[in-house]
Amino acid sequence: MSYDQENIFAKILRGEIPCDKVYEDEHALAFHDITPQAPVHILVIPKGDYVSMADFTASAPAELIAGFFRAVGEVARAQGLEQPGYRLLANAGADAHQEVPHLHIHIFGGKKLGPMLTR
Ligand code: AMP
Repeated sequence: MSYDQENIFAKILRGEIPCDKVYEDEHALAFHDITPQAPVHILVIPKGDYVSMADFTASAPAELIAGFFRAVGEVARAQGLEQPGYRLLANAGADAHQEVPHLHIHIFGGKKLGPMLTR
C-alpha cells in the first residue's frame, strides 16, 4: 500500500492541523487520541511515511525504528503507567479496522482494561 500524504497524521506531522501533544523528539510524535477509549489514550507515530508496522520495519532506518520504540516506552513511563499497567495496540489493514494509514501505536491506560479482545 502506498503512503497517502493527505492522511490526517501526515497533516499533523506537517503542522497543518493541531494535535494535543504529549511528547516529541526527532523520531516520534505522541498526542492524545481525539476520541479516547480509556482515561489515558495516546497515539505515538513515527516521523516518516510509513503505513503499517510491516512497512515500517521493512523500510525504516534502524535508528528511526529504535527511536520510535524508545518514544513509546518513554511516553508510557512519563504518563505513570508502568506500575498500574497499560496496553499497546497497533491496527494494520482492513481486518484490524485501521482507520488512519500512518503507523501508530495506541497506548491505553488509567483503568483496568479487561480481556485483550472483545468478540
Ligand atoms: P486506527 O483505527 O488504529 O487507525 O485508529 C485511528 C485513531 O486515530 C482513532 O482512535 C481516532 O480516534 C484517532 N484520530 C483520528 N483523527 C485524530 C486527530 N485529528 N487527532 C487525534 N486522534 C485522531
